[in-house]
Amino acid sequence: MVEANIMSNQTASRFQEIDYSNLGFGKYFSDHVFEADNIDNVWSSGVLKQYSPMSIEPGMSTLHYGQTIFEGLKAYRDLKNGGVNIFRPEMNSRRLNRSAKRLCMPQYLEENFLDAIKQLVIRDKRFIPNERGQSLYIRPLLFGDGNFLGVHPSDSYKLLIMTSPVASYYEEGLKPLKILVSHEYARTVRGGLGAAKTAANYAASLYAAKKAKQEGYSQVLWLDGVSMEYIDEVGAMNIVFVIDNKIITPALDSGTILAGVTRDTVIQLSKDFGYEVEERRIKVSEVFDSHKKGTLQEVFGTGTAAIISPVGQLTYNDKDIVINNMEIGPVAQKFYDTILGLVHGEIEDKNNWNLHLDI
Ligand SMILES: *Cc1c(COP(=O)(O)O)cnc(C)c1O
Repeated sequence: MVEANIMSNQTASRFQEIDYSNLGFGKYFSDHVFEADNIDNVWSSGVLKQYSPMSIEPGMSTLHYGQTIFEGLKAYRDLKNGGVNIFRPEMNSRRLNRSAKRLCMPQYLEENFLDAIKQLVIRDKRFIPNERGQSLYIRPLLFGDGNFLGVHPSDSYKLLIMTSPVASYYEEGLKPLKILVSHEYARTVRGGLGAAKTAANYAASLYAAKKAKQEGYSQVLWLDGVSMEYIDEVGAMNIVFVIDNKIITPALDSGTILAGVTRDTVIQLSKDFGYEVEERRIKVSEVFDSHKKGTLQEVFGTGTAAIISPVGQLTYNDKDIVINNMEIGPVAQKFYDTILGLVHGEIEDKNNWNLHLDI
């Protein structure tokens, strides 16, 4: 891979500016960005560049019409064997291409995607935090950068991959969230963009999330946008219920749910752990009824950023239910510990999920 504009003498590394004791999420960026361009369906070979401002045209179509998709994955220090583990990156490559198809954008070869990520992580290796739970978050972004006002797919695209050293979401332990079930707003609907990791779904979620926060909730639980009865996701995470010792999560066939890598990991681990798993439609009323019957054991969100986020309270139409006494339950804890152990190389990686780099 060619390197362009690499660190001239005048440019200081961003490394010195990073407060590793207070990383937060997505506040800091590493020194380099991978960039590849697609013009008339042909990809350039891609370069590593310095992270720096870009200039854009006022008519850039994506600013107007939202033809943009992204991904999120992480590189962790292997605390047992040394080196670095990138968790299931081929899943992100495949999902990027599914999102791209839905938004009329070009496909990017998995081999080139994995190579770009490897080069970037190797180049900015020193930015990867050392502590357990911390990681280098990797953010691929693909958008149309054509300069026009007509409504049609762009004829040129840019793929950027940036990285950001991030904290563990839970520096003081996994704290269960208070969640508001939205009966007023939907993030997507059947036939919409819900299965694509695209900006529009986030734009649709901001207002409801802001109102929920003002009322003291951390996030919104999204119902299907048609009947407003079935559960889709929680915030920007997939959702899992433990009811009567079964693991239940909404099925993906509605097309309104993002196929999370963490969701898939939890489903596969459930089978290893001997839990029964049901991927099916689940009504919010079923969750409240099972709470009444005493069979609702745990609720948690799954996603790359937090891995596992326990839900301690659900509020729907002014009715509250408290789950597992506002404490993390044993199932959520077991998934969290197992996944964190896997990504840090402490637990044997039987499924070959880690892309291990000996760096
Ligand atoms: C990214 C995302 C998830 C989680 O996916 P992971 O691959 O597990 O990080 C869930 N829901 C939405 C809407 C997302 O954008």
